Amino acid sequence: MAEKIRVTVWHEYRHEKKNKTVAELYPDGMHAVMKAAIEEHLGSRVSVRTATLDEPEHGLTEAVLAETDVLTWWGHSAHGEVRDEIVDRVQRRVLEGMGLVVLHSGHYAKVFKRLMGTTCSLRWREAAERERLWCVNPGHPIADGLSDEYFELDHTEMYGELFDIPAPDELVFISWFEGGEVFRSGCCWTRGKGRIFYFRPGHETFPIYYDANVRRVLANGVAYVAPHSSAPVRIKAINAKDPLSPIQSTHEADPSLHR
Ligand code: ZN
Repeated sequence: MAEKIRVTVWHEYRHEKKNKTVAELYPDGMHAVMKAAIEEHLGSRVSVRTATLDEPEHGLTEAVLAETDVLTWWGHSAHGEVRDEIVDRVQRRVLEGMGLVVLHSGHYAKVFKRLMGTTCSLRWREAAERERLWCVNPGHPIADGLSDEYFELDHTEMYGELFDIPAPDELVFISWFEGGEVFRSGCCWTRGKGRIFYFRPGHETFPIYYDANVRRVLANGVAYVAPHSSAPVRIKAINAKDPLSPIQSTHEADPSLHR
């Protein structure tokens, strides 16, 4: 493990180029604001770079991913443009131990669906309604520094259940929405050696990534999914022909069954 957590903030970066509201909220792109939020809270513990969809290999070359401890992912309108070989690459790195933070509409990202194995579909509505995020796991590192049992966002896009995900290993937040729905809005899983955190807020036409609590949770999530173990990992099958201790039987395996 490197001394600093090496973070790559990945952003689709299309809405800012096409939508005036989003461009005004995020003149340098949402990724710049996310990067600043992570640096604001984690300071010298991190080195943060950004990568975007329209860069060669979506900015996620083998070299970049090899030097990434935590990848954050925001995508929405161009999930289909993410090349499958890059999805394969990100999945492999997560299994090897890279942390992944998936944000908001990233619930439909190829990368997230691949790692979840379900449709990841949900109920949604854009009506600028109030969201109240209840912390249901106050001892969890992702909730560190929050000052109350819940925090609120005045204007959000609603995401509601059923959120078609595998049961989270750890649930940190449940959202309530003004219009009546609820949603599992802070969920953790482990895949292989890698930790994954899904965090719901982040709709592009509201100033979500300027909210102090959202920024804190984003940074906490990055720190939480960062690799915590240097134990070796094998993600390929091996034929351990030579036993570690003597075996008494004289069984001969038929090699034609193991091609
Ligand atoms: Zn949205």
